[in-house]
Amino acid sequence: MRESFSSRLKQNAELTEEKKKCCRFIRGMFSDPSAVLSKNTDSSGTIESIYRKCRCDGCRQVFFRHMFIIFGSVTDPMKSYHLEFAFSTEKEAEMMVSMLSENGFTFSRSRRGNRHTVYVKNSGTIEDFLVFIGAQSSAFEVMNSKIVHEIRNDANRQVNCDTANIEKQLEAARVYVEAARFLDETGKLDSLSEDLRKTARLRIDNEQMSLAELGRMMIPEVSKSGIKHRLRKILAAAEEARKEIHN
Ligand SMILES: [Zn+2]
Repeated sequence: MRESFSSRLKQNAELTEEKKKCCRFIRGMFSDPSAVLSKNTDSSGTIESIYRKCRCDGCRQVFFRHMFIIFGSVTDPMKSYHLEFAFSTEKEAEMMVSMLSENGFTFSRSRRGNRHTVYVKNSGTIEDFLVFIGAQSSAFEVMNSKIVHEIRNDANRQVNCDTANIEKQLEAARVYVEAARFLDETGKLDSLSEDLRKTARLRIDNEQMSLAELGRMMIPEVSKSGIKHRLRKILAAAEEARKEIHN
């Protein structure tokens, strides 16, 4: 089975080594059994005391990395962007938001059942946070997913645009075909001018053709806007005829 993005990230994060003594001390606090950091009971006191012992940027990197390993999770960036910490109390969540904010990260809070979560959905913030805790390769995967999504969206937009144009063209053509047919079936077509009659017949016989193509089939040739103008007259004539019949 393929390991999740989140658990792979955590495994890699565990392997990071600290160079400075102060940073190693912070790391030691997380592996100290007396620290008792738990997902299910209030750990706010311990969390705060470890954070207060941070002496340098490296220490804070270790702190947030291990907070993530214990309380955090992140979704596969190919699917969605969501990084969160889940705590058992509101106090822990509040504390985490302000600690993150002190380090330049804006996270939101929410409650899900009895879990108090601190989360972010912005891919840029997720990337920055992963770099901050030393998970560069995971941050790179987030960046990479953004590029893949962009390419995919561009391709979809192109397809949707083409489909919409074709739909619009067909829709317009159907309205005029129906109008021309109606005039033909009710014998009203004969009362129209020769130009309109010819245009109506062409429209009925060539439903899928564009206006420009219809114009080229006329003898002499008629411009696209000329055809449009005639079709509008045909539509108006059909509407008139319908009213007459219904009255
Ligand atoms: Zn340090």
